[in-house]
Amino acid sequence: MLAVLSGGTGTPKLLQGLVRLVKQEELSIIVNTGEDVEISGLFVSPDIDTVMYTLAGIVNEETWYGVRGDTFEEHERLRREGKPELLRIGDRDREVKRRRTELLKEGRTLSEVTRILCRDFHVLANVMPMSDDRVRTLIYTEAGPMGFHEFWVARRAKDRVTSVAFEGAASARPAPGVLETIEKSDAIIIGPSNPVTSIGPIVAIKEIRLALQRAREKVIAVSPVVGGSPVSGPAGILMKGLGYEASPLGVAKIYHDFIGGLVIDDRDRSIAPEIEKLNIRAFTTNLMMPDLPSRVNLARTVLTLAGIRPT
Ligand code: GDP
Repeated sequence: MLAVLSGGTGTPKLLQGLVRLVKQEELSIIVNTGEDVEISGLFVSPDIDTVMYTLAGIVNEETWYGVRGDTFEEHERLRREGKPELLRIGDRDREVKRRRTELLKEGRTLSEVTRILCRDFHVLANVMPMSDDRVRTLIYTEAGPMGFHEFWVARRAKDRVTSVAFEGAASARPAPGVLETIEKSDAIIIGPSNPVTSIGPIVAIKEIRLALQRAREKVIAVSPVVGGSPVSGPAGILMKGLGYEASPLGVAKIYHDFIGGLVIDDRDRSIAPEIEKLNIRAFTTNLMMPDLPSRVNLARTVLTLAGIRPT
C-alpha cells in the first residue's frame, strides 16, 4: 500500500504516472482541504476535486482545476447578473460541487461525501480529505489577512506575505483512516505540491504530523521547487514570506522533522550535501513533468526509491 499527500497541481501530475504503475486500489491519497471555500452557495473543495478528476481521467490539464472541455454558462450568467464568482466554475464541475453541498447538508461528513463522489466517478483509489473538520488557510500580508484564493486568484499574489496560519488546525482531527494509512503504508510520498499552503495545512494537524514523524524513514517528498523557483504557483513567494529560501533546501527545512528522503532535480545536485546535513537522504532525477511519459518516469523513480514494486 502506498500513501500520497496531495495538493492540486504538481502531485496530480505525479498521480497520473503512479496509477499507470500501481493499481488504484493500492493507493491512498490524503488531500489538503485548507483552500476549501463556499462560492455561490456551493462547498468547493478544489484539491479533492482535482485529485478525483485526475484519477477519473477528466481533469482539465491546462489549469489543473475543473473538468476538461467543460462549459461555463452558469458562471457567465452569474457574472452578467453582477454576482461574479471568485473561481471559474464550469457547468459539469458545478454539478459535482452541488451534489457535495447537498450531501453535506444531509449531515454526511466530507470523508463520506468524497467516497460517494469518487464511487460515482469509478475512482478506485482511496481519496481522503485530511480532516472532516474545517481548516482554513489564512495568508497574512501587509494588506491584511486573506484566504488563499483572494491572495492568489483575486489579488495575484501582489501583497507581501508576513505569515500563514491554518485556522481550525489546532482542534482538527485527522479524517477517519488517515492515521492508519500513514502507519500501514509501505511508503508515504509527499507529492510536489506547495509546501506552505498545500502540504502545510495537512501537517498542521498535530496527530498527522506526529504519525509522519513516527513513519519518517518511509516518508519521501518530491520537491516542487526546481532551481530557484517553483514550477508553477506561489510556493516561492510564500516560502520567502516565511523566511525560507525558495529552493529544494528550503523545502527540506520545512519538512525536516517528518521526511527521510527528498527527491530534487538534477540541476540542484550541488545542494544535496546541505540537505543530507538535515539527516534527509537526497536523491536527484529530472523533476519536470510536462507530459505523461515524464510523469510515468518520475513515478517509477519515486516507487523505486520507496522500495515499491510496480503492480
Ligand atoms: P499551488 O498551485 O501553489 O496552490 O500548489 P499545488 O500544491 O496545487 O501545486 C503546485 C505545485 O506543484 C507548485 O509548487 C509547483 O512547483 C509544483 N509543480 C507543478 N508542476 C510540476 C512539475 O512538473 N514538477 C514538479 N517537481 N513540481 C511541479
